[in-house]
Amino acid sequence: MPGTSIAIIGAGWAGLACAVDCVRRGLQPTLFEAAPQPGGRARTVRMDGLPLDNGQHILIGAYSETLALMRTVGADPDTLFDRLPLALEFDDGFALRAHGSSRLALALAFIGARGLGWRDRLAALRLMGAIRRPPPADESVAALLARTSQTESCIRHLWAPLCVAALNTGIDDASARVFARVLADSLMGEPGAADLLLPRADLGALLPEPALFWLRARGVAVHCGTRVRSVRETATGFELDCGEQLHSAERVVFATSPHQLPALLDGLPALDPISRAVHALEYEAISTVYVACDAQTRLPSAMTGFVDGEPHWVFDRGALGGPPGLLACVVSAARGSREEVESRVLAALKRQFPALPEPLWVRTISERRATFRCTPGRAAIEPPADPRIALAGDYLIPDYPATLEAAVRSGLTAASRLARASCKTQDSSGT
Ligand SMILES: Cc1cc2nc3c(=O)[nH]c(=O)nc-3n(C[C@H](O)[C@H](O)[C@H](O)COP(=O)(O)OP(=O)(O)OC[C@H]3O[C@@H](n4cnc5c(N)ncnc54)[C@H](O)[C@@H]3O)c2cc1C
Repeated sequence: MPGTSIAIIGAGWAGLACAVDCVRRGLQPTLFEAAPQPGGRARTVRMDGLPLDNGQHILIGAYSETLALMRTVGADPDTLFDRLPLALEFDDGFALRAHGSSRLALALAFIGARGLGWRDRLAALRLMGAIRRPPPADESVAALLARTSQTESCIRHLWAPLCVAALNTGIDDASARVFARVLADSLMGEPGAADLLLPRADLGALLPEPALFWLRARGVAVHCGTRVRSVRETATGFELDCGEQLHSAERVVFATSPHQLPALLDGLPALDPISRAVHALEYEAISTVYVACDAQTRLPSAMTGFVDGEPHWVFDRGALGGPPGLLACVVSAARGSREEVESRVLAALKRQFPALPEPLWVRTISERRATFRCTPGRAAIEPPADPRIALAGDYLIPDYPATLEAAVRSGLTAASRLARASCKTQDSSGT
C-alpha cells in the first residue's frame, strides 16, 4: 500500500478530510487547491485587508466526524466553539432554551418555550412521532407539515427556520426525508447532538489551517494556488494538467464543489453519467452581511433569529470572541442584488435594535452556489465504477444536506474506498 500516489483535487473540508484520512491509512496524498488558501466555501477571506469568514457558519453537536477530525489535526473544539444547549430566540419574543443537552432537557425546552401554546406543543410532538417512520416516498417539508397538522406558530418559529438553517431551502421546496434525518440526528440523537457550536475563531482556524499544518508536518505536498485544468488517463494512472506543470498519480480524488466537477471530468468519458447527474443539481445562495459598529456594541444574544427571514440570523461576533461590535447577518437562499439585501438587513437591524449605532462599515459576501438545493427525491450519486477514482464533496451523502459534516464524511468515505482498492491491488500483485 505505501507508495500508492493519490492526487486530491480541492482542499475544501472534503478534500482535507480525505487527505488526513489517507495519511492515517498509510497512503500518500498530494493536494491541489485552486485558491491561495484551503477551506473552500468554509474559509477565511480578506476583504479590504480584513479577515472575514466566507460566510458565517454554525455547527451542531451531531457533527461527530467533523469534531473528531478537528481533534486529529490538533484543533480543539472545546476552545474553538461556544457550545450552547439548543436555544432559539426570535425578534418577535419567541424563545426556546434547553437547560442541558439531554433528551429530557430538549423535551422540557419545547414544553417551556415562550410563544408555544398546548396546541403547538402537541403538534410538535406529532411531527417528532411522524419522523420516526419516514414515508417511503419523499415529499416537500410543507407537505409533511400539512400532513401532521402543524400550527402556524410551530411552522413560523420552529420548522421553517430550522429547515432553512439546515437545508438552505425553503419548506415549499425542501426534502422532507432530509429534514426528518436532520431532526432525528439532532433532536433525537445522542445527548449533546442538538447543541449549537458557535465558532469563536475564524473558519480557517477551525480546520483548514491546522489540517494544512498537520499534513505538511507529515510530508504531504499541498499545492495552493494550483488549479487543475484537466485530468486524463495514462498507462500507469492519471495525468493532471496544472498549466505550468503536469503531475501524475495512480489514484485521483475529485473533491471540488459539484458545479466545478463536470468540466474536470471531460477527459474521462466513463464518468459521463456522474457528470450528468451532478450537472442536474440546482443551487441556493447565502449572503453574509457584515456590519461593523463601534466596539461597545453588544446585542442581547450571541445569535438572534428573525421570523420574517431577512436576515435569518444575526450573530454578535464580538460576543463570540471576535472583533467587538462586528455583526454577521445571514440571509439564506438570498434573492436580489447585494444593495437590496444590504438595505433590507440594515432596515431589519434598525427595527429590532433601535439603539444600534450607525455602522462604521458594511461588507457583504455572497455565495451564489452556497449549497445544492435540497429538494425531494434527490438521486444519490453513485461512486465511479473505476476503483482508482473517488469523489468527495458535500453533495454525496444521501439524505444529508450540504454541510461541513457531509463534506467531511464524504472525504473519509473516499479515503476508505482508495485504501480498499490499494489493498486489492497489493493482494493481486502478491506484494
Ligand atoms: C455562506 C455559507 C454558509 C454556510 N453555512 C454553513 C453552516 O452554517 N453549517 C454547515 O455545516 N455548512 C454550511 N455551509 C456549507 C459548507 O460550507 C459546505 O457544505 C462545505 O464547505 C463544502 O465543502 P466541500 O469540500 O465539499 O466543497 P468546497 O468547500 O466547495 O471545496 C472545493 C474546493 O475545490 C477547489 N477546486 C475546485 N476546482 C478546482 C480545480 N480545478 N483545481 C484545484 N482546486 C479546485 C475549490 O477552490 C475549493 O476549495 C455554508 C456554505 C456557505 C457558502
